[in-house]
Amino acid sequence: MKTLVMKFGGTSVGSAEAIAQSAEIVKAAKNDWLAVAVIVSAMSGVTDLLLKGAHTAAAGDGQTFRAIARDLRAKHEAAFHGLVGAIRVGAVHESPLQDRILPCLAEFESLCHAVNILGEGSPRALDAISSLGERMSIHLMAARLQALGLAAEAVEAGELILTDDVFGSANPQMNETKARCESRLREKMHRGEVPVITGFIGATASGAVTTLGRGGSDYSAGILGAALGADEVWIWTDVNGVMTADPRVAADARTLPRLSFREISELAYYGAKVLHPKTIRPVVERGIDLWIKNTFNPAHPGTLIVPDNGHTQGAIKAVTAIKSQSLITIEGRGMLGVPGVAARTFGAVARAGVSVPLISQASSEQSICFSVPSPSHAKVVAVLQEEFRPELARTDIDSVSSMDNTVIVTVVGAGMRSTPGIAGRIFSALGNRNVNVIAIAQGSSECSISLVVDAAQADEAVKAIHQLIVNEQ
Ligand code: ADP
Ligand code: ASP
Ligand code: MG
Repeated sequence: MKTLVMKFGGTSVGSAEAIAQSAEIVKAAKNDWLAVAVIVSAMSGVTDLLLKGAHTAAAGDGQTFRAIARDLRAKHEAAFHGLVGAIRVGAVHESPLQDRILPCLAEFESLCHAVNILGEGSPRALDAISSLGERMSIHLMAARLQALGLAAEAVEAGELILTDDVFGSANPQMNETKARCESRLREKMHRGEVPVITGFIGATASGAVTTLGRGGSDYSAGILGAALGADEVWIWTDVNGVMTADPRVAADARTLPRLSFREISELAYYGAKVLHPKTIRPVVERGIDLWIKNTFNPAHPGTLIVPDNGHTQGAIKAVTAIKSQSLITIEGRGMLGVPGVAARTFGAVARAGVSVPLISQASSEQSICFSVPSPSHAKVVAVLQEEFRPELARTDIDSVSSMDNTVIVTVVGAGMRSTPGIAGRIFSALGNRNVNVIAIAQGSSECSISLVVDAAQADEAVKAIHQLIVNEQ
């Protein structure tokens, strides 16, 4: 059975008009595909507000979450009435607003109240709270699809996606998830029903709600696409596919019609928000076609992600940036030739639970530097000072330092491997604009080169490199 999984992001369900537009897209797809499953994000901005409510409550503020609940109620009511106003939901017997959405907001208030009394929000509590955006938005989309005459059913992914209990970035257990999708959805989809499933969330074996990480609705689409054995997964967002740079930074960014798995992986991993990096693996492994398309310009073909076949055109394809990074440096002449410094460094960082997106070591072995997300920098410096206490005392290691306010800028393109002189062109372009490069790393795949620059120069660096891409085309 030809199966299509479509995911609509926050802006694509951000208002009554956007939901109406997304619903038209589903209806059109339903004409062409035998089975369609829809995954939706929370309305844009909602997850941030839910988390703000939780954090302020944990910090002792008993009022802000109540004000947020009122704002969220107004937002969802406006969307619901906007949708119902456009087409009467005469066929809908229950009121999704009263019966489904408002109870989520009551749950939000009582969870925040509990967090407020306890004075802390555990990862489990934060997941329960941040999951509520998707648990509301599915009802808006399902109501609209029903109004268009489709047999749509809102489904919470806690029923489908079984995860471990790593709250905040839970991992799916695919076999059980597949079995649940089969039994819960397959037959209904066969009959033409369209499940409208919460993105972003899953549940543990004991039924506790988990989240897959911020921006994780894309990952939900990958997981459910794989579990349903979909032929294609389409990610609907607010730009014309994956572009040569974030169009918010480089106004002349262009759509990349095709991008290989490796290229999109590097781009997503190094900060291109358009696709969550974990989305890619489940679909690549099963050879599922992955498209990124624009809800607000559906006639545009968008971007197709293709297998790595080596036939990519152009050397530099795209440039991206990860903001709010700190560059940690360990240096000292006594490190020279001493085995195990790198292993101890990254062992200590891993024990602190921090992941490292970039590492660079000079061949003199007198320093190692690596990047970590800024909120973790103090923790990382502390664990390293502890780890190397004897070496610091003997001054074999002179210092463990952190440079804050840095950004990793990454240039991506599989064709860079076979094109000499790329690094030279990149550094000249940056030099010409007076951008100072603090550290460099190139993966052995040569599919990407990453540079660390000061945050104040990050946009300039992206624009300078983007100009190289524009000139090449
Ligand atoms: P959604 O809510 O649909 O998941 P996101 O905001 O998570 O949307 O991702 C889409 C945004 O990603 C775009 O609006 C754009 O600003 C940003 N973005 C960053 N890098 C790129 C890129 N290379 N191509 C396209 N969009 C990008
Ligand atoms: N709503 C979630 C978030 O804001 C997931 C998503 O939008 O992909 O992170
Ligand atoms: Mg997103």
